[in-house]
Amino acid sequence: MINLSSNARQILKARYLRNTDVTETPTDLFERVARHIASVENENKDLWFDRFYKVMRNLEFLPNSPTLMNAGLPNGQLSACFVLPVEDNLNAIFTTLKNAALIHHNGGGTGYNFSKIRPKDDFISSSEGSSAGPVSFMKIYDTATEYVKQAGKRRGANMGILNINHSDIEEFISSKSDFKSLQNFNISVGITNDFMYALENDIDWQLVNPRTNKVSKTLSAKKLWDSIIEQALKTGDPGLIFLDTINQNNPLNKLGEIQSTNPCGEVPLFNYESCNLGSINLKKMVVQNSTNIEIDWKKLERTITTAIRILDNVISCNYFVLSQIQEITLANRKIGLGVMGWAELLIMLEIPYASNKAVELAETVMKFIHEKSYNASQLLAKKRGCFPSWKQSSFAPHMLLRNATCNSIAPTGSISIIADTSYAIEPLYALAYKRTGILENTTQMEINATFVDKMKSLGLWSEQLRSEIIEKGSIQHVKNIPTHLKNLFKTSLEISWKYHLLHQRAFQRYTDNAVSKTINLPNTTTFEEVSEIYKTAWKYKLKGITIYRNGSRNNQILQLCGYN
Ligand code: ADP
Repeated sequence: MINLSSNARQILKARYLRNTDVTETPTDLFERVARHIASVENENKDLWFDRFYKVMRNLEFLPNSPTLMNAGLPNGQLSACFVLPVEDNLNAIFTTLKNAALIHHNGGGTGYNFSKIRPKDDFISSSEGSSAGPVSFMKIYDTATEYVKQAGKRRGANMGILNINHSDIEEFISSKSDFKSLQNFNISVGITNDFMYALENDIDWQLVNPRTNKVSKTLSAKKLWDSIIEQALKTGDPGLIFLDTINQNNPLNKLGEIQSTNPCGEVPLFNYESCNLGSINLKKMVVQNSTNIEIDWKKLERTITTAIRILDNVISCNYFVLSQIQEITLANRKIGLGVMGWAELLIMLEIPYASNKAVELAETVMKFIHEKSYNASQLLAKKRGCFPSWKQSSFAPHMLLRNATCNSIAPTGSISIIADTSYAIEPLYALAYKRTGILENTTQMEINATFVDKMKSLGLWSEQLRSEIIEKGSIQHVKNIPTHLKNLFKTSLEISWKYHLLHQRAFQRYTDNAVSKTINLPNTTTFEEVSEIYKTAWKYKLKGITIYRNGSRNNQILQLCGYN
């Protein structure tokens, strides 16, 4: 029997286990996935099956949800991340909508940059009418997403980007302010360095109609920036994506510019490109010696090597709904290995998240993962050949690689529940919370198990503590808890945004794709603070930034006890 939490069993049953003549067990599921991924090995299939199976069933590494759901099925799409082009004509706009529906239906999420679309009320020569504009087309995409459920299980997800110099950028910035529109979209403004310089120097900024390349409006950069900050504070949207930072770090920049990321921002991709992800559960990468707990670097290295092989194999046994996706994905062979359970690892090592020691360790761990991922991809290149577009990449001629990218920090929204650990690189959201929506219409009260274990081991666990945690979701106000434990168990909203950003920067430094992170903020956060966060994100060379002010939307998945 696999050691799974009750939440993990519930989510597996509701969404992942195949339900045909006989219902799969979790063991069957991991066997199905491992068997399919090992099927592309030329030699020693059984040995590889065994290795792949063990890292998954031990919850040391999990591939992204579509791989778990669809591996081994006829036409099983295994990737989570796609970017599709949006051109300025009706035919192309609706072709992409159809393609997005196919991708969503098979479990993937799609990102698009809408900046090529002519603005609202612009001239249309063929009908002599006026155009709907990018935001209206996004609303059509949003409605389609609402109705295309993924095999009846979950709705698709989208990223919508509009560049900061598009004529309709002001409408885009406030497009989610009614809390009703574009609910199946994350939206981000595509920011350029030029704009940030205009902002820093408080000069005017020009909006341009992409059809005519003519300036449609001139306004102060600061005014535009302030409208972004105001909306982000109010609704959490828009986030930013930093296009120049992305393209300066694009190993395939000879092939063109990247204009978009996948829905949660961790993978910048070319049009039609797809990427499959997987995450190592850092909580499982520790060893207990006589006095304390340490990172088991050997085990981590072994797991990375196996994970990179799994992700590379996934490309080879993947099903692609479109020939264009197949072509570019097989040419670049991008994969994204990341982590989950970072906060729980820090707790086990007794290092507070909000500390320089934690930030330094983040760099050390991610540097290690990056180096070992590249070593593994290099070894695969020697056996299997470099990715086909390698000669045009910045790695040629010296560094052989099987994959144009190797690392991404995905949010691990579902797989961290299966692995029973904390999300990606996020701090614990709360020590106790009501979780709604793992399965629709359910609400559950949960207390973090790592916290309970620690308190029990120190003889500090009691019924009274339990009630106080349930009431407050935090231990900061509980009497008789030593300061070092209060620091160790600070939750997301008790951690200054500065440390949230420092962790994102530490991981981004050694992540060739991008880092998905939400900077969770207390309800009292000010306009000036959000402005500083967004500016700091650019200065830190992050590829994107997303904030969320507690309580600013009413459909949060996790509700903090004591905060709402
Ligand atoms: P998981 O834990 O389910 O593997 P993540 O939360 O790590 O997935 O998200 C990784 C990526 O998977 C996202 O950036 C997005 O591209 C895609 N994704 C996540 N949720 C959905 C969804 N409901 N529909 C479509 N794609 C999704």
